Amino acid sequence: APALAVQGGAVVFEDVHFAYDAERQILNGVSFEIKPGQTLAVVGPSGAGKSTIARLLYRFYDITGGRITIDGQELRDVTQSSLRSSIGIVPQDTVLFNDSIGYNIGYGREGANQAEIEEAARGASIHDFIESLPDQYAAKVGERGLKLSGGEKQRVAIARTLLKNPPVLILDEATSALDSRTESEIQATLERISERRTTIIIAHRLSTVVNADQIIVLEAGRVAEKGTHLQLLRKNGLYAEMWARQQSEAEEAVLPAA
Ligand code: ATP
Repeated sequence: APALAVQGGAVVFEDVHFAYDAERQILNGVSFEIKPGQTLAVVGPSGAGKSTIARLLYRFYDITGGRITIDGQELRDVTQSSLRSSIGIVPQDTVLFNDSIGYNIGYGREGANQAEIEEAARGASIHDFIESLPDQYAAKVGERGLKLSGGEKQRVAIARTLLKNPPVLILDEATSALDSRTESEIQATLERISERRTTIIIAHRLSTVVNADQIIVLEAGRVAEKGTHLQLLRKNGLYAEMWARQQSEAEEAVLPAA
């Protein structure tokens, strides 16, 4: 197979079908198109198949029907290594190696030098924190990164991805692990790194997708609605309902119980 040649990074899902087990269909004909450099947010109820979309793009599994292409090239026709070097994933929960923080960032690209690692750390807003540690970049992160907070671990993952510098980015939105201030700071960092890269955000909270170029609402393995935040609110369907529910939950959280 030839290597994937990425020009702009247009990602297309065409009538994609997929099942982990033959008895249970997970995606039932999912189609969408992301233009080079644009951001698509995938929302929908738990279990709808949002993370599955990310796994299929990274080719952890092969689809059972339809086509997935990047710049017109079908995923199954290109080498897996070229595909994976073109896609960066910032997962919900990053697995770190029991090694130094510098090593963990450097893992993003083989052969990266110290200056490049530090530049990536600056981009992820974690350089100053690392400099404040007694051992700085040589500081050990502990088993699976247990010496770092959830937010710090996520910044290491972002720095790792910046070092890799992929044209296509998948952000699996972090949820409960972060407090709301850390969350909004990380959100700002993620928005910055997704500029000029084709980005898919797997979103759990709708407040983080308001600025996406396109939002798809996945329900039972199908695209139930598609549009921008405003278009979907005007539609008064599933998205508008989810939005209203999350707004009232947010209000309940700040107002004292009557
Ligand atoms: P959440 O918002 O809860 O993360 P999601 O929309 O991302 O959910 P997926 O992780 O894509 O959902 O999972 C879709 C469905 O596929 C779920 O019902 C899940 O149980 C099932 N599933 C996920 N991974 C596997 C697997 N490896 N084998 C079998 N079924 C799986």
